Amino acid sequence: MRDSIVRRRAFCARAAGLVLAGWFAAPAVAQPPGKGRHPRPPPAKPAPVIVAIDPGHGGVDPGAISPHGLYEKEITLATARELARQLEAGGRFRPVLTRRGDVLVPLRERVARARMVHAELFLSIHADALPDSELRGLSVYTLSDQASDRETAALAARENKDDFVAGIHLRRQRRDIAPILLDMARRQTNNRSLALAHAIVTELGHAVPLLEKPHRAAGFAVLTAPDMPSVLVELGCLSNPGDERLLPQRAYQQRLARGLLHAIEHYFAAGAA
Ligand SMILES: [Zn+2]
Repeated sequence: MRDSIVRRRAFCARAAGLVLAGWFAAPAVAQPPGKGRHPRPPPAKPAPVIVAIDPGHGGVDPGAISPHGLYEKEITLATARELARQLEAGGRFRPVLTRRGDVLVPLRERVARARMVHAELFLSIHADALPDSELRGLSVYTLSDQASDRETAALAARENKDDFVAGIHLRRQRRDIAPILLDMARRQTNNRSLALAHAIVTELGHAVPLLEKPHRAAGFAVLTAPDMPSVLVELGCLSNPGDERLLPQRAYQQRLARGLLHAIEHYFAAGAA
């Protein structure tokens, strides 16, 4: 719903642009050329899309540790920084990292930081370790239906409703209407998260190994924002010798970041936003 507000704003801005163009054009007809004319205002540049990138773990929490002692928290931060660099380079996106250094940020705080800057997407970056060292490859998680329903119910039942969620001012809604509005917003967000996960699997499938059944669902706390499409990407398996060798390599991190960038571009090009 926030998107529809943004779209409405964009429409209003376009409408305002037309009015302004008409305003500036009118004197040119009534007056001799070159006299009293105002220069046409330059076309407004669209505001960059804010993308939240969440490097998993950090500080006292190393995340998974590979057989040779690689820390997940270092791989997630390095890849997140590379993705931020690539997103920024195109000029269309403004990346915001939920942690910039080797510090531990609580999970809900990560989501809160992203929502605070009105991020259009939330991308949590991790690297897995599985009991079977044969398994390797990238996988993408979206929020499971059960976890999604639980979150929506908890949010609707929360005592302090003095906040906006998905453009809905909860305190101003009737008690019986707020949960329905929230549920609708949540479903829309879930569909967008699925579209993003699909784009990531498709795009990265051309570039790096994928885990079997690469799109999965789980109840990760960082995926619970009701109004911000969110996915969690496991870049690979630190428990697998092949992935353990590749994941710390800068060239491989660049390849992963490029695939994620293209997936984000396709997601927006498909009108999912
Ligand atoms: Zn992790």
